[in-house]
Amino acid sequence: MNTCETGGMYDFDVLVLGSGPGGQKAAIAAAKLDRRVALVERRHMIGGVCINTGTIPSKTLREAVLYLTGLSQREMYGQSYRLKDDITVGDLAARTQHVIGREVDVIRSQLVRNRVQLITGTGRFHDPHTIVVAQGEGGDHKVSAEKIIVAAGTRPARPGSVDFDDRTIIDSDGILRLDHVPRSMVVVGAGVIGIEYASMFAALGTKVTVVERRERMLEFCDLEVVEALKYHLRDLQVTFRFNETVASVERHPRGALALLESGKQIAADTVMYSAGRQGMADHLELENAGLTCDDRGRIPVDENFRTAAPHIYAVGDIIGFPALASTSMEQGRLAAHHACGEPAHEVQAIHPIGIYSIPEISFVGRTEDELTADRVPFEVGLARYRELARGQIIGDSYGMLKLLVSPTDRTLLGVHIFGTNATELVHIGQTVMGCGGTVDYLVDAVFNYPTLAESYKVAALDATNKMRSVARLRD
Ligand SMILES: Cc1cc2nc3c(=O)[nH]c(=O)nc-3n(C[C@H](O)[C@H](O)[C@H](O)COP(=O)(O)OP(=O)(O)OC[C@H]3O[C@@H](n4cnc5c(N)ncnc54)[C@H](O)[C@@H]3O)c2cc1C
Repeated sequence: MNTCETGGMYDFDVLVLGSGPGGQKAAIAAAKLDRRVALVERRHMIGGVCINTGTIPSKTLREAVLYLTGLSQREMYGQSYRLKDDITVGDLAARTQHVIGREVDVIRSQLVRNRVQLITGTGRFHDPHTIVVAQGEGGDHKVSAEKIIVAAGTRPARPGSVDFDDRTIIDSDGILRLDHVPRSMVVVGAGVIGIEYASMFAALGTKVTVVERRERMLEFCDLEVVEALKYHLRDLQVTFRFNETVASVERHPRGALALLESGKQIAADTVMYSAGRQGMADHLELENAGLTCDDRGRIPVDENFRTAAPHIYAVGDIIGFPALASTSMEQGRLAAHHACGEPAHEVQAIHPIGIYSIPEISFVGRTEDELTADRVPFEVGLARYRELARGQIIGDSYGMLKLLVSPTDRTLLGVHIFGTNATELVHIGQTVMGCGGTVDYLVDAVFNYPTLAESYKVAALDATNKMRSVARLRD
């Protein structure tokens, strides 16, 4: 039976563990299909990592930093332009707390409206259909369900050799608890989270050093875009140490000293580790349900997000890549539909990536390097924001949009954007790609003027002009 109509054998048709993006959307989707749904979540964590410690606080912090530092206005008003001279943690936290509060409220209300029963406590498996919910002084309660969707997410990975104290040596959760804006900071790990926070603190005037073991950063992105980002971050006084590993961190009364394997020593007020994330599966007593996880606390699933036990699903960061709020939501919805016997489509292969560095990056589809490695020919169409009226108006002279176009069938193979609103603009390219459109659609389309979206037309014209030059030589 692939439906969850239990006729009362269990307390609920669907029980969801974790209220992050994956769990929320799974619970709501099952409720919309008229199932009896429960959602188990720990106290003070409604909305998950996404709302409380990850996506939303970091993106709100970024907005506050951009606004208060006046960084994006300096091209117009001069390098010394600032909205506020002495920006405090209080200024930043006020906005973050406001948004978190509102978001939690929205989520709670959506769950209530859809009759999802919220059970507060920490869940673990008792048997394949039963979860024990530990409610502190309220004791332990058992809840059973025909289908269970695990969306328990991750926590920051903490290397055992590092003595975290949540003040001087912190992980990305600790950023939100800092009591002052550090004058200097070492960011260990140049992944997305590391680079986003490095950008924000650099914008605030913190002297940031990024230490990365590999020789490159964000290697899944377009190389030219990453080069542009590095140039901008260096301009904000960020120092990059690639091919370098932090051997240890010493804590001193007036800050920390990061000792690199190469022998270099870097003094900083704060050292932030951004060393990947550890899945929460290790706390779930999976063995009671006949399941296992890997050493990074992740649960393996099939293409329908089913675990080795066909009535138990897992979605979101706990299943690993791509570990984004955007994809977790969709996985939650799809898992719930599958669990409830509702036809479900696979997650579309083309999903966008957004990196909220300063400036921001977004892309969809393939990179030049990937296409070249696979010997797929492509033409490049480029638009620079400074050549667009909107780019001049907003004072973004560095932004760019790059289209990778197939000269064979004129479809878009990739869209890479760097600069203001990149994470929004990318969806135009995604839509054209998803609907099988060609570069000619963008050449012929009329865009609002003056907009940044117009960059699509400019880049499309650039690509088609180049393709025409090649074709002419053959005529
Ligand atoms: C700093 C940072 C910035 C990010 N920025 C972005 C971004 O810009 N865009 C983007 O798409 N993604 C971003 N992400 C990733 C995004 O936050 C995650 O992909 C997303 O939150 C994963 O959702 P999830 O549903 O898997 O669970 P999570 O959001 O991780 O939530 C899991 C929930 O399960 C609960 N839980 C765990 N175990 C139990 C248990 N035993 N009992 C009860 N409840 C339990 C936890 O309390 C938690 O609330 C960012 C992450 C971080 C850390």
